[in-house]
Amino acid sequence: MSAELAPYAVDMRQSRGRRVAESPPAWRSEFQRDRDRVIHSSAFRRLEYKTQVFVNHEGDMFRTRLTHSLEVAQVARTIARALGVNEDLTEAIALAHDLGHTPFGHAGQAALNHCMQPYGGFEHNLHSLRVVDELEQRYAAFDGLNLLFETREGILKHCSVARAATLGDLGERFIERRQPSLEAQIANVADEIAYNHHDIDDGLRSGILSLDTVCEHQGFREALDASRAQSPGLAGKRLAYTAIRHMLGAFVADLIDASRERLARHAPRCVDEVRGHGDTLVDFSPDMREDHLRLKRLLFQRLYYDPSVQRIADQAKALVTELFDAFMRDPGLLPPGAAPDGTVPGEARARVVSDYIAGMTDRYAQVEHSRIFGSPQLGAGPVLAQDMSGIIFK
Ligand code: MG
Repeated sequence: MSAELAPYAVDMRQSRGRRVAESPPAWRSEFQRDRDRVIHSSAFRRLEYKTQVFVNHEGDMFRTRLTHSLEVAQVARTIARALGVNEDLTEAIALAHDLGHTPFGHAGQAALNHCMQPYGGFEHNLHSLRVVDELEQRYAAFDGLNLLFETREGILKHCSVARAATLGDLGERFIERRQPSLEAQIANVADEIAYNHHDIDDGLRSGILSLDTVCEHQGFREALDASRAQSPGLAGKRLAYTAIRHMLGAFVADLIDASRERLARHAPRCVDEVRGHGDTLVDFSPDMREDHLRLKRLLFQRLYYDPSVQRIADQAKALVTELFDAFMRDPGLLPPGAAPDGTVPGEARARVVSDYIAGMTDRYAQVEHSRIFGSPQLGAGPVLAQDMSGIIFK
């Protein structure tokens, strides 16, 4: 495999290794081993029941964190292969990037972060690292998954300087303002490409977005025109899917071309020169970057901030906040073994509670809320309450 890698790719021979030394795998590369450990983790399976934009049980056809992660990995692998970098590492990072997500997507994360403010806050990206470093408990010799430095580097996308100072070698780059590997940069942009496009698809399916609304974005309008020109008479869902695919292809092609051009110009000779470069080398062309941001803005204004999405988000925030307060008041409500005794100080107790809530799926959070508060009401308004009764009493 190494022979095919570009000089700026992450290569096992220069790896900074695992925190606990292990003998090499027999049939796989070390990077494949990391990918496989992510896939076999409990946190990865739970992504199936965590919200992307739409609450998990609003419909079986919407993206979940799991299908989102698979789509990110698909986009990321294409780009990694085109740029001649380490595809297995890119895949491992992409599959792991959302392991730390709370139930109810960004609403859940915002609520948990708010609750955790007196105790250092909660940040889902940092929590992804905590999942793979500490919280998964399935190996005899270590807590967590004991992933390679380069996989962990890719998972930790952002971090405050103060927090970085507590993270040892992994935090160094935030203090020294260095970049991560190209594989990490690819997984990061692939995340944005994937959600922009699948959220259009889900938004159309939900009826919150219309084709006319999405056509306010010039790139989509052009993709729609190109689809019609290519297949006259195409209409409805097939037309929408085709246009989304066209646009996604255009973003990926631009990213590959612009990144190749940057790599050729700066010619980093190894991954450390990639890390020492002032900017990310994997990026769109300036025009496409603008277009990408315009698309993000459209999705914020017309989908994520739509009152019907916000109503569920507000209910989810209330539910997470009430769970947090209840567990803090009475740690006896936590499952046996997880509950710290009454002498554990507030901050340590809060971290146990936060880990427990962050690990919940959407529906488990609702079941726990119902167990503690009785009939589904309190934080939950009519829509969520209706869904809760469906789950609990079905
Ligand atoms: Mg993501």
